[in-house]
Amino acid sequence: MQSEAYIHSIETMGMVDGPGIRYVIFMQGCPLRCAFCHNPDTWHMTKGQTKTLNWLLADIKNYLPYFRSSGGGVTVSGGEPLLQAEFLELLFAELKKINIHRVIDTSGFAAVEKVKKLMSLTDLVMLSIKHPNPEKHREISGQSSERPLAFARYLTKINMPVWVRYVLIPEVSDSPQDLAGLAAMINNMPNVQRLELLPYNTLGKSKWEQLGISSPLLDKPSPLPQEVEAARKTMAGLLPGLKTI
Ligand code: SF4
Repeated sequence: MQSEAYIHSIETMGMVDGPGIRYVIFMQGCPLRCAFCHNPDTWHMTKGQTKTLNWLLADIKNYLPYFRSSGGGVTVSGGEPLLQAEFLELLFAELKKINIHRVIDTSGFAAVEKVKKLMSLTDLVMLSIKHPNPEKHREISGQSSERPLAFARYLTKINMPVWVRYVLIPEVSDSPQDLAGLAAMINNMPNVQRLELLPYNTLGKSKWEQLGISSPLLDKPSPLPQEVEAARKTMAGLLPGLKTI
């Protein structure tokens, strides 16, 4: 059993990674290479800091009043947190004992068998769908979509509450066909409670440059506000009844 976690950073008052005020742990390590990644410095597992289970639990408990008053809790993000599923099983089991809400923010790139126990201890999954088209998925993330798709099917099978996240990249992921493909995926997942459309931005650009790596998307413009709004309307039309933000 993994007794320490490789961590990139911690945000103690997160407001965007799940309900309420959240203690967000950004884990180190990711097998994907998304062309829009804001955190390429999380990619290598051992380049971060290490934290023990006891250290994390003690630190998290400092924020209990904020969780209780806001309906918040703990979110584990990344990097790809499912790479350290064994450690997270230990953490989530302890958090469950003290009734702290537990969220995983993931690309879903994991072998389902290895994360079943962790899923049984998780309250909500924020699932980042990179692209509904398998070829474009590989182009954007450097990996096949087979594992994320199998993971998504498993989440539906166990009726896990899911919030889907999707990055709108002009001319890459925002065409009517792309949006229809995304809607078709979500229509097969009655467990999805919310869709978050995130406009692509270049906030990660300086990190890419510092690390001396390049991305074909770095010079793409962000979508215009009216383009994002149009995509929201399209998705709301294709997925009536689903909260789309
Ligand atoms: S899954 Fe997340 S951390 Fe990994 S490369 Fe993609 S955006 Fe970056």
